[in-house]
Amino acid sequence: MTQTQPTHTWQGEIRTAFRDPAELARHLGLGLDQLPALASTDTFPLLVPRSFADRMAKGDPRDALLLQVWPDRLESVVDECESSDPVGDLGARKAPGLLQKYAGRALVVTTGACAVHCRYCFRQNFPYDESARSQAQWETQLEAIQGNAALREVILSGGDPLTLPDPVLESRIADLESIPHLDTLRIHTRLPIVVPSRMTDEFCQTLAGSRFAKLVVLHANHPAELDDSVRAACAKLRATGSTILNQSVLLRGVNDAPDILERLSRRLWECGILPYYLHALDRVSGSSRFQVPDDDGIRLIETLRSRLPGYLVPRLVREIEGAPGKMPVG
Ligand SMILES: *Cc1c(COP(=O)(O)O)cnc(C)c1O
Ligand code: SF4
Repeated sequence: MTQTQPTHTWQGEIRTAFRDPAELARHLGLGLDQLPALASTDTFPLLVPRSFADRMAKGDPRDALLLQVWPDRLESVVDECESSDPVGDLGARKAPGLLQKYAGRALVVTTGACAVHCRYCFRQNFPYDESARSQAQWETQLEAIQGNAALREVILSGGDPLTLPDPVLESRIADLESIPHLDTLRIHTRLPIVVPSRMTDEFCQTLAGSRFAKLVVLHANHPAELDDSVRAACAKLRATGSTILNQSVLLRGVNDAPDILERLSRRLWECGILPYYLHALDRVSGSSRFQVPDDDGIRLIETLRSRLPGYLVPRLVREIEGAPGKMPVG
């Protein structure tokens, strides 16, 4: 007897994610009057999978996971130095949805969709359209990659590339494997963090069977994001032969304290993930409430250096338009 898949498939998790701030507040035992006044969310609505919401502390309006996703009215305050394209993505396009800023590696915007909407996201204003995930656009991108023999590595990014169905990912990876000058596949994704059930057997088999050296770069900002379901998802991912790194964004009120960053690094290690970058926030419009001064960031890293082995200290970097790579802060 066949049954339609209930909500515990990853697609079901995305379908049933919180989209109504009042409903999320209620789930957390909070009244709307206890939370920051809401922003207008026409262009970038609230989106929070239940598996992620379940890691938020009940009754705490300052919870570090909640703050990352709550559409705060302060988003309508736009600083002079902020913009809708803070890292020069539009100028780095080699083909629609194909960005190359650095030597040897190019980044493919595979889709505009994500499983969670992070309020500080620097791509929230990227001019995605439905064609981002189309086969036609992919073929144009492939051609450009094929024609550039200096590329060794392709980064599947987005949005979140793991919102694509497994068969699509499998065929994209197979297409890339047919290009002889590529040796490394990288995937930038937050899905294993917010929806750990995304680590399906089918996806893991695709990765395990690939000829590429494989790198998965996750995005977690706080140790509470890394519960045991995430740890299990990462164990599955590591069994494919992939190296797992993490990039975080330094966020005021979320992780700008040495104890939190120390616990994050130690928990990443427990999950088999190495800290890679700690990003100074890109000045995307309306993100000023998350801004941490550079001097504070530098002091935080110094403190981490005094507490942790070198491999657990992330590199504090900022993206500067026109630079040859992510640039160290300080
Ligand atoms: C950040 C980024 C990369 C990756 O940079 P690494 O320093 O190799 O992690 C590659 N391409 C683009 C366009 C990027 O924005
Ligand atoms: S998961 Fe990444 S791309 Fe998606 S909203 Fe969050 S920061 Fe932006």
